[in-house]
Amino acid sequence: MLVSTVELLTRARRGRALGLSGGEDLRLDWTALIARKDDIVARWSKGKNATPAKLGIPALHGRGVFAGPHELTVDGRNYSAAKIVIATGSTPARPSIPGREYGITSDELIHLRRQPRKLVVIGGGFIGLEFGFALAWAGTEVTLLQSGAEIAPALDGEIRELLLSAAEAAGMTIRTGVRVTRIDDNKSVHCEISGEPARFAADEILLATGRPANVAPLRPELAGIDLDRSAVKVNDYLQSTSAPHVYAVGDAAGMRQHSPVAWYEGPLAARNALQGNRQQVDFSIFPTAIFTIPAIGQVGLTEAEARGSGFNAKTSKLSYDSNPAAGVRNETDGMVKIVYDAGTEKILGAQVIGAHAEDIVQIAAVAMRGGLKKSDVGAMHYVFPTLGGAIFDTMAS
Ligand SMILES: Cc1cc2nc3c(=O)[nH]c(=O)nc-3n(C[C@H](O)[C@H](O)[C@H](O)COP(=O)(O)OP(=O)(O)OC[C@H]3O[C@@H](n4cnc5c(N)ncnc54)[C@H](O)[C@@H]3O)c2cc1C
Repeated sequence: MLVSTVELLTRARRGRALGLSGGEDLRLDWTALIARKDDIVARWSKGKNATPAKLGIPALHGRGVFAGPHELTVDGRNYSAAKIVIATGSTPARPSIPGREYGITSDELIHLRRQPRKLVVIGGGFIGLEFGFALAWAGTEVTLLQSGAEIAPALDGEIRELLLSAAEAAGMTIRTGVRVTRIDDNKSVHCEISGEPARFAADEILLATGRPANVAPLRPELAGIDLDRSAVKVNDYLQSTSAPHVYAVGDAAGMRQHSPVAWYEGPLAARNALQGNRQQVDFSIFPTAIFTIPAIGQVGLTEAEARGSGFNAKTSKLSYDSNPAAGVRNETDGMVKIVYDAGTEKILGAQVIGAHAEDIVQIAAVAMRGGLKKSDVGAMHYVFPTLGGAIFDTMAS
């Protein structure tokens, strides 16, 4: 919600180019935004809380903890079950930096009553980037510190370059190869960058260094459940590799931390638990997005991954510049990149950065699922002028 509101703000501010006046002075009302978020969360949670009852499933409200392989206690009451599905999500990491208590996590940032004036983000993964972009466009001075050589290391290199240009346009400072050494109580972040000391002042520090699975507090060792790092170690049926009566889903089961993963895995694991292992998970065609401004949509393999997997991979690329709908909307910063096998024209992956990339990439995902070749999609009719047309034009080129 923060991102979509700020996206609208940035578009409206650029309205003069479209013949609109007055947009330049638009500002984000942080208090109103947080109040709206609280209201939406409360309404949607209410609906979700009512669902188990509607389905006739008794729901206990409390923290479950294992007491034995099949035994659980919930707030002092004992329960036992033949089969158990763990869906306890993840919690934000608090890195072992002296002074980390002066930082906040993303869970706390969305409850701040005032928009930070200066924000230091520690961590250049998707959460750090999403908050960094949104707040930078909303007027916060954002400095993002990444320990590795690259932000979002799994991204395609060309997409990352465009993301870095977008970060510059948003006024964000990004530093890589950073070792944060200390945070002071006045919210100064001390670090070393290429062996040189550096210090960044902030009025809030966002700790965005990952989200370990929230399984250890359940005392999984009492049920004989092995962990892989923090998550339940599962096989392709989402079954614990060490405790066959236990299944795990969503963030508790691994590192694919996306809501649709949990929605897909929950019913699948429940069916496998109750009916015997019938279905394995399949993430071969799994579209995802990073909600930076502009957004990034991805599905399948990047060019480097395809080559690394032994494909004779070729790419087709198209800049948003050459898409008439992007031109009409004055949103010409972006690119569509398709990765395909040179011999068979099988579509191996797609990456999109630009306005509505998160929606556009889904066209490529459907084509991949349907087994369409690149030239099949390139020959299709599409609605003109649309941003989505860029996928078809890229496949035609
Ligand atoms: C800032 C942020 C932005 C994100 N943006 C996106 C996005 O744009 N798109 C996307 O797809 N994903 C996004 N995600 C990831 C997504 O939210 C998670 O992957 C998803 O919520 C995981 O679902 P889950 O059911 O595994 O866990 P959760 O949704 O975390 O649910 C776990 C539940 O288990 C409960 N619980 C924990 N321990 C116990 C216990 N011992 N007993 C009983 N109950 C317990 C918790 O209270 C919680 O209600 C984002 C995450 C964050 C933090």
